Amino acid sequence: MSRLDSASLLAPSTPLPKPKPRPRGRFLCLVSAVLAILGASLALLLFFALHPAAAPNPAPNYAALFLSLGSNDTAAAHLRALTLHPHVAGTKANALTARYVLDALSALSFPAHITPYSVLLSYPVHRSLSLSSARGPGHVVTSFSLKQETYPDDPYAAAAGEAIPTFFAYAASGSVSAEAVYANYGRDEDFAYLASRGVDVAGKVALARYGRIHCEDIVHNARAAGAAAAVVYTDPLEYGGAPGEGWFPDSRWLPPSGVQVGSLFRGVGDPTTPMWASSEGCDRLSVDEAMNTDDMPLIPALPVSAQDAMEIHAVMGGAVAPAGWQGREGGPVYRLGPGPAVLNLTYLGNDTMATIENVFAIIEGAEEPDRYVILGNHRDAWTFGASDPNSGTAAMIELAQRFSMLQKQGWKPRRTIVFCSWDAEEYGLTGSTEWVEENLEMLSSRAVAYLNIDVSVVGPGFLPSTTPQLDELLQEATKVVQDPDNSSQTVYDSWIKSNIYPRVLRLGDGGSDYSAFVQHVGIPSMNILFGEGPVYPVYHSLYDDYVWMAKFGDPGFRRHVAAASIWGMMALRLASDEILPFNYISYAVELEAYTKVVENEVKGTATCSPLYDSIRALRKAAIKVNNEQKELQKQLLSKQLNRDSLKIRQLNDRLMQAERAFTSREGIFKLEWFKHLVYGPSDQNDWDTAIYPGVANAITSARSSNNSESWKFVQREIYRVARAVTQASAILSGRLT
Ligand SMILES: [Zn+2]
Repeated sequence: MSRLDSASLLAPSTPLPKPKPRPRGRFLCLVSAVLAILGASLALLLFFALHPAAAPNPAPNYAALFLSLGSNDTAAAHLRALTLHPHVAGTKANALTARYVLDALSALSFPAHITPYSVLLSYPVHRSLSLSSARGPGHVVTSFSLKQETYPDDPYAAAAGEAIPTFFAYAASGSVSAEAVYANYGRDEDFAYLASRGVDVAGKVALARYGRIHCEDIVHNARAAGAAAAVVYTDPLEYGGAPGEGWFPDSRWLPPSGVQVGSLFRGVGDPTTPMWASSEGCDRLSVDEAMNTDDMPLIPALPVSAQDAMEIHAVMGGAVAPAGWQGREGGPVYRLGPGPAVLNLTYLGNDTMATIENVFAIIEGAEEPDRYVILGNHRDAWTFGASDPNSGTAAMIELAQRFSMLQKQGWKPRRTIVFCSWDAEEYGLTGSTEWVEENLEMLSSRAVAYLNIDVSVVGPGFLPSTTPQLDELLQEATKVVQDPDNSSQTVYDSWIKSNIYPRVLRLGDGGSDYSAFVQHVGIPSMNILFGEGPVYPVYHSLYDDYVWMAKFGDPGFRRHVAAASIWGMMALRLASDEILPFNYISYAVELEAYTKVVENEVKGTATCSPLYDSIRALRKAAIKVNNEQKELQKQLLSKQLNRDSLKIRQLNDRLMQAERAFTSREGIFKLEWFKHLVYGPSDQNDWDTAIYPGVANAITSARSSNNSESWKFVQREIYRVARAVTQASAILSGRLT
């Protein structure tokens, strides 16, 4: 069970007037600009008229003003400044980016501060990899340079020397010399296929490619199959474009020497404080203890380039790999091995305590300062981080600048807005996780929503993820933001016309800093980006720099501004609407769809009727609370109700707390940190969301053991989710039994 199609939730509601198409010519440009402003203002006025929850605060002019203030030059300037040097977490260079963000937000007159943590990070000390052929005398030996090449006139050539050598964080130190086995994408099913073909992985070096699952899962699977070490590469099939398309700087594709680095830690946060915050003087595991848990890779591993991998493939023997395992046209034929290619791999890492820094800026709420709307983005990068993550940082500072201009015009949000610049996301969502753990109870009782952007831009196309009660708000925000790639329509128009399914992803994966907010505490959250997905050709390589962004990711920087506009519109509404713009009917619809999938999978062994019953009750409660929202809104408009009436606060508390009800104190079986029973991590792929993760895991183990006890456990898990859904209805209705 994973992502489900939620297109049904996104049927267009009331159509809005579209901005005029842009004619050619200077005068016409001016006319069209005026028309566009008029059109946009009309759209906004209509928007706020049609959505009474938005009125009377923020007054329409604040929203319109916010949208009109977008500046691509500002976003570009911040991105350039943030990406002058590679800035891995825990380094001096990244401390400078913390200072940069602190200064930029302070300069906008927002109170800002840094919260540091001491956490276990990981750096390479020595790496080597050579290839020989065990076949006969005169065997070839190649020593790979493990170096990503710069190109003639690369403005970042000098700074490239400061980049961290290509490595996998937390890989075990050691030397392995063994035959290579080709393991395709390194999934469970790939290793199962090798076993079925009689290819023994035990004691070998598994050679696998990126493209389907996260590197932490590839290496974990390799170890589970008995491999002594793993080598993971970026196949030109996924990262190189069509033959003849060339590579960066001539095209957007990864150069042959490009390497995708990453972290192999399968846990979340600082490995020395597995269920609690890394506060000063806290209880900790020793580095040794932390490095020897099952969440660590425990074998040496290295990421390598396509160029190096092709040399290895060329020396491989054994059976020809199946069609789905082959590479791009014109490359070597891939064989399974083992050998005769022998890989000699040495890795020495420094796994050490280091200081990371989260940066915060705060706009205090005028009426409800103890209710938080939290905007977050990480700042640390494996290299220059132009897309990942500083396209998001640049968008956040650009957005903050607009909020500061709004403040000068008298805007005061009702609730507190918190900007967060996270550190060490790349190592395991570390900065955000430690902060959420440290502020757990405060966030649990006070956080209204968490709005995340990691990579904000890698190309055209809009890709959002939300918890379902925010679906409607997301749609409304995209309806007032112009598509950065087509001025004749809104982001909403192009999003709905695109053939990307599902239209909205959910947030159970470990892909970014929303993880602790959604999966540990149960805070309504969202994440958005422009582009085909968070993994793009130069992802986590040396080439994720300003030149790539300006040439291929976002020439003109309009997508940065659009991302900031959607992000900011959602924040404005959440921070300023009297009544929180949450709609739980979406949630009930989603849960029903998920349950149908489960029902099919457990047919004849367990029943989903308790879950269906609880979802029906949720739908009723959601409809009722929606009517209450409308009624209070009416009373507000007719001045029968005061803006600071406790009635409003009570209704909002129910809307805010309902998401918390989907979490359970005990957490998911054997994954106790993960508390959310609807959205959680997929066991197979850190980039995937598991729906009803507890039920999904129980089904997987019941299938393998297939006894009545294990199916009983599946039934237990279904009941557990049903109870959580019932709790959510109880909170929404606000009545004791
Ligand atoms: Zn990132």
